[in-house]
Amino acid sequence: MVDDVLEGLNEEQIKAVTTTEGYIRVIAGAGSGKTRALTHRFAYLVNDLGIRAGNILCVTFTNKAAAEMKERIHQLTDDNDTGFVCTFHSFCVSILQEDSYAIQYPKSFLVLDNSDIDAMLKMIYEERNLTLRDMTFKNARDMFEMRKCIKEPMYYEYLIQMSIDQLHQKYMEATETDDILFYGYLYQQKKCFAVDYNDLIFLSLYIFREFPEIKLKWQKRLEYIMIDEFQDIDPPQYELMKNLCGYHNNLFVVGDPDQTIYTWRGASVNSLPDFDKNFPGVQTIMMMKNYRSSPEILDVANSLVSKNVNRMKKDLIPMLPHRNKVVVHHAENPRKEAQWIISQIRHLNENGVNPGDITILYRAHYVTRVIEEEMIKEKMPYMIYSGVQFFERMEIKDALSYLRLIAYKDDLSFMRIANVPKRNLGQKRMKFLREYADEKHISLYDALKENVDEALFSNTKAKVFIQLIDSYTDHMNEKPVSELLSEILDLSGYEEMMRTEGAQDRLDDLAELKQSIYEWETTVGEETDLVSYLRHISLFTNADMAIEKGKVRLMTIHAAKGLEFPYVFIMQLVEGIFPSRKIRTIEGMEEERRLAFVAVTRSEKGLFLSDSGGRNIGDTSRFPSRFLFDIDPVLLEYTEKPSDAYIQKALDNIDKVNRRFIPSASSLEFKEGDRVRHPVFKDGTVEKIDYDEEAIFILFDSMQTPRAIALRAAKKLEKIQDKIERFS
Ligand code: ATP
Ligand code: MG
Repeated sequence: MVDDVLEGLNEEQIKAVTTTEGYIRVIAGAGSGKTRALTHRFAYLVNDLGIRAGNILCVTFTNKAAAEMKERIHQLTDDNDTGFVCTFHSFCVSILQEDSYAIQYPKSFLVLDNSDIDAMLKMIYEERNLTLRDMTFKNARDMFEMRKCIKEPMYYEYLIQMSIDQLHQKYMEATETDDILFYGYLYQQKKCFAVDYNDLIFLSLYIFREFPEIKLKWQKRLEYIMIDEFQDIDPPQYELMKNLCGYHNNLFVVGDPDQTIYTWRGASVNSLPDFDKNFPGVQTIMMMKNYRSSPEILDVANSLVSKNVNRMKKDLIPMLPHRNKVVVHHAENPRKEAQWIISQIRHLNENGVNPGDITILYRAHYVTRVIEEEMIKEKMPYMIYSGVQFFERMEIKDALSYLRLIAYKDDLSFMRIANVPKRNLGQKRMKFLREYADEKHISLYDALKENVDEALFSNTKAKVFIQLIDSYTDHMNEKPVSELLSEILDLSGYEEMMRTEGAQDRLDDLAELKQSIYEWETTVGEETDLVSYLRHISLFTNADMAIEKGKVRLMTIHAAKGLEFPYVFIMQLVEGIFPSRKIRTIEGMEEERRLAFVAVTRSEKGLFLSDSGGRNIGDTSRFPSRFLFDIDPVLLEYTEKPSDAYIQKALDNIDKVNRRFIPSASSLEFKEGDRVRHPVFKDGTVEKIDYDEEAIFILFDSMQTPRAIALRAAKKLEKIQDKIERFS
């Protein structure tokens, strides 16, 4: 335990730590010690005030950040119990774990990740004869999210109040692709009590609304609530937070409006500036000193973000000594860019920098292919460090499916491994099981169990399979999960199959999984049973895996949020990649610039920016990102400055992109239903504002049919009257 948790903190941080009662917000720039203040505040509450860790809720945005925070708190308090230090989603898992009986959900519900949802989609597509041409899985998932969060926020009533038969009927009666998929998905979910990330929040909110006594229990328990990265909180999470702090009224939030990068999920740059309008007696603490980055890096960050118009101005004061200037390199093409990055990394290594201290950041996953290829060629060890990579691998999913089947008997796991290794349970028998299960509303596993003695299954290994799974279900809490996994992989013949196939890398992955479970068992303390593990793993991403010291890390900027690295490369700073070509509004571009700001402010000692020319698919020329031009050139060291003519072309290209911008929904003067005036067509009523079509559909008084006016031309329209509400 640390004797004095206030040691090593500056004046503002001490104020943030010791002001424990009421509503407090910290607005401060990147690397100013917000997260540090937050962790010390936790320790102060526990060590100095004697508050129990279990009465504190501390929320961060990623599992990775939560794991790091737990570790820091653990060091400061020397207490194994760190209470609720977690993401909103995993906190909701705790709520549901305890109180899902209120909505008739079992304690052991399944948390779905993307590939689970895809597996459900596969069943629905098959059943309803849909193909990926009707909709891709990704679009279907996005559609679910839109419907759950925005369009049909009462959807959970289907899950909670409808019987499985009614829901099935709703699904079967649906005719539109959207509806078929949505209700099919809800039906699949309900069947195995599976919840996705949105449900975690919405079901918790539902329980709080419908069961005040449960809400009060949680409110009373959480004496102090702290939220990191508050700038990215979305409306449902905000609602949850408001609910939770309603009894003790102790809420501490920290964030940086300049790092808001989730407005597309409903976050708002105004949530921190407006915080005092929504809560009484808010105390505000500002932190201006930066302890993370060299002055050279900070200057670049400040210069970049100052180009945003919609922001609270605040500059950071560097506390660290001077270092080299930020380097910019323009390469002829992506391959040469990758080679340049690798040569710089080699150079750093020769000067004593550990590869593990170097991180390459980028806007989107897809740009890593070339650098990966080059690194493999060069035998430079690296690891992709975001998303669910490791847990996405076939053998890992299979292994976890065995564990899940033991615990939950769910259809997804069953479908995945019933015939892996081969047990002669092919398509025909599966189809039979599906129909049988649907008719009786039971799981596929139970369907197999009921039919295992029928002739159809006489030639299969179904019986042995059932005996195996059942024997583990009966005794699942008697053995450590790591042992359980080893045994089941052995007895099921799964590992044998891998050995026969000579799949050494897959066996290595399985060994790694066992190792990670073992580590979990030895560090987590109490609950080490199978269901706890499955719950833990469902919120787990590759980012939580042990950091490998000797490897260069590659990750998206979103995944790097809140983290810091000694040396950072930001690659593919190319118009259309970063900023993304999907950006169509000025507001969207400001968010993209904040993302660039987040990337720059991750670095401590050295920062390298690169772009590459050449041609895009579709044969358009590639030009450097506008963000490179946003930065005052005196702050940068160019390896070789591109010619003036090329720079001019790049600037012309940016102008061209800007001319295609359309106004955002929030910046339009009018909304659907309003009356507007067009300079030639005169007055009309706005029927629809369609962002996909980039058009405003208006029925002009002088015409019979509506006209689509380009959103880009919205300026030509003048609002003359608000929507006329009609009452019947
Ligand atoms: P971000 O906005 O990126 O989340 P942050 O404000 O949360 O940044 P921290 O991660 O808490 O910043 O701190 C940045 C770095 O500065 C860390 O390495 C931290 O240990 C260090 N630091 C913070 N406060 C101090 C201090 N008072 N003295 C010395 N170092 C500090
Ligand atoms: Mg932080």
